[in-house]
Amino acid sequence: MKVAAITKIGSLKDPDPSKRGRVELIDYPEQEVGPEDVKIRVAYCSICGSDPHVAEGIFGTDVPIGLGHEVSGVVEALGEKATKKGLKVGDRVAANFLRFCGTCYYCQNGQQQFCEHTDEYHRPGMAEYVVWHESQVYKLPDNVSLKEGCLLEPTAIAVRAMDKMGHKVGSRVAICGGGPIGQLALQMVKMYGATYLTMIEPVAERREIALSFGAEYVIDPATQDVVEEAMRITGGLGFDVVLDASGAPAAVGNLPRITAKGGTLLYGAMYPGDFTMPLNLFKYCYFNELTISGFYVAPYAFPRALQLLPRLNLKPFTAKVVPLERVAEAYDVHMSSKYLKVLVQCNEGLE
Ligand SMILES: [Zn+2]
Ligand SMILES: [Zn+2]
Repeated sequence: MKVAAITKIGSLKDPDPSKRGRVELIDYPEQEVGPEDVKIRVAYCSICGSDPHVAEGIFGTDVPIGLGHEVSGVVEALGEKATKKGLKVGDRVAANFLRFCGTCYYCQNGQQQFCEHTDEYHRPGMAEYVVWHESQVYKLPDNVSLKEGCLLEPTAIAVRAMDKMGHKVGSRVAICGGGPIGQLALQMVKMYGATYLTMIEPVAERREIALSFGAEYVIDPATQDVVEEAMRITGGLGFDVVLDASGAPAAVGNLPRITAKGGTLLYGAMYPGDFTMPLNLFKYCYFNELTISGFYVAPYAFPRALQLLPRLNLKPFTAKVVPLERVAEAYDVHMSSKYLKVLVQCNEGLE
């Protein structure tokens, strides 16, 4: 079967074509359906902001590296013991690309995200088919389309951000970065009763989307002084909760300065592996008592993400669809940042 893969390590935006990373379709063996497994005929797999980092070799440089972890599709086959969720052949589903074993120290200590046995089911989802463990698969509500359904995984990431932000109703909230995670998180904090809700984002179209989702203020870091604007908006207090969803080294250094005394600052993105940031511990940790944290995957978040899907505005996320055969073009479109999300259609005729 056909799978999208990185076949050459390198930046996908390297101006020198001989150094640029490459994404293309490869032939890949179909996985066997084990007794507790679900075989999914993939409908859509959306491109993740982390995929270009994979192309740069952040998780290893042995190519080919199969791509795709934001998947929706239809159940094609079930193992004889895959009966715990009542799934049936033909059901419309979405999935978590990680299988948590449930048995290791971390799984049993309420920290699935550190599970030491996720490798067995590490399989690329930007493919005609993918076989995952039943525990990874979720039946979509009838009023969620397969195009929207592939957003379950990024939605779960935004739910995880909510869990770690731990804010109260009425908290002043700022989000840095209007990509998919930032925009999903913005919709969620709005539900949560955020006030002075502010999106910090250099791309005008993305600021407009944030305003349409309920942001009260937007800051353009390319033309405005972020700290000055943040203090003007919050009457000098700063934001109780600041989420970075940009992953941009140039954007994150200022965020302790716009976080209120006693506030929470969450670095919720994938950063370049060699990036370090100076932090004045006296000012921000001792004197201002900031809680600074981060996260990388979404344990215990998928059931709630599934319930949120039909309650979110996902229209701007599903505007661009490219067929699997033209996957290289899909990544070019993704790199242009013209669309909030690019969906790769892996099989035709599934809605
Ligand atoms: Zn992702
Ligand atoms: Zn485990």
